Amino acid sequence: MKKKSLILLLSLAMIFTFVLSACGGGSEESADTGDDSAVLKVVTEATFAPFESTEDGDDTIVGFDPDMMAAIAEDQGLELEWVNMEFDSLIPALQSDQGDIICAGMNKLAGDRADKVDFGDTYFESDLMLLVTADSDLTGIDAVTSDMKLASQIGTTGGDMVQAMKDEGKIADGVVLNQWTDCYLQLQNGEVQGVIVDKPVGEAYLNNHGDIAKFVGESFGEHEEFAFAVQKGNTELLEKLNTGLANIKANGKYDELVDKWFS
Ligand code: GLN
Repeated sequence: MKKKSLILLLSLAMIFTFVLSACGGGSEESADTGDDSAVLKVVTEATFAPFESTEDGDDTIVGFDPDMMAAIAEDQGLELEWVNMEFDSLIPALQSDQGDIICAGMNKLAGDRADKVDFGDTYFESDLMLLVTADSDLTGIDAVTSDMKLASQIGTTGGDMVQAMKDEGKIADGVVLNQWTDCYLQLQNGEVQGVIVDKPVGEAYLNNHGDIAKFVGESFGEHEEFAFAVQKGNTELLEKLNTGLANIKANGKYDELVDKWFS
């Protein structure tokens, strides 16, 4: 009798163990079946209105870029989350697998960026301009004198330009700051005599500050082509983003967003 009950007990234990592992395995299987479909991390620097910015006291990132990427994601069945960080951290973030996509009004032609990440198709074009106070006598970038200071954002084409002008002795100092909003503040506080900024971004600033600031002169520097970027070699994702961009351009969504953010 004892032997029979022992066998029964062992059988029940084996069945119980099997059921447990089957349930446990299910959760692993569901993970393998892609239920944890990857949410792609988009990294940006959100003081670059109207491409990306945050409302006062709210971390939500709004602008042309989030709207454009949301339309691309919907078209391609992707899920995105946005992370705000300093501009010069964006490429390192992809290189260290801390981000999947850069979308930040980033010029794909600048420097060695394309050696570090893979850029997609151009989604916007721009040039650099000199922003000064409304009462400035400056007539353009060529009128800047060696006693002056210019500001721009660190790691950007504008930032590189003010540092080059400093190195060449064309200005007394090239002030590179983490946020565009700080650059504007330094201008208004008289700390610097000009800000080198992307034309559409400077225009957005002037829309709300046309009484205290202005553009002077013509655009200068390399003509810029803004593009999103993915980690080096992620051609599958890049093809999806490029296809999505082509589709929203074809169906009118892209133009609708340009009107929304730049009219
Ligand atoms: N277009 C400039 C660049 O690529 C600035 C970008 C930005 O500040 N978000 O460097």
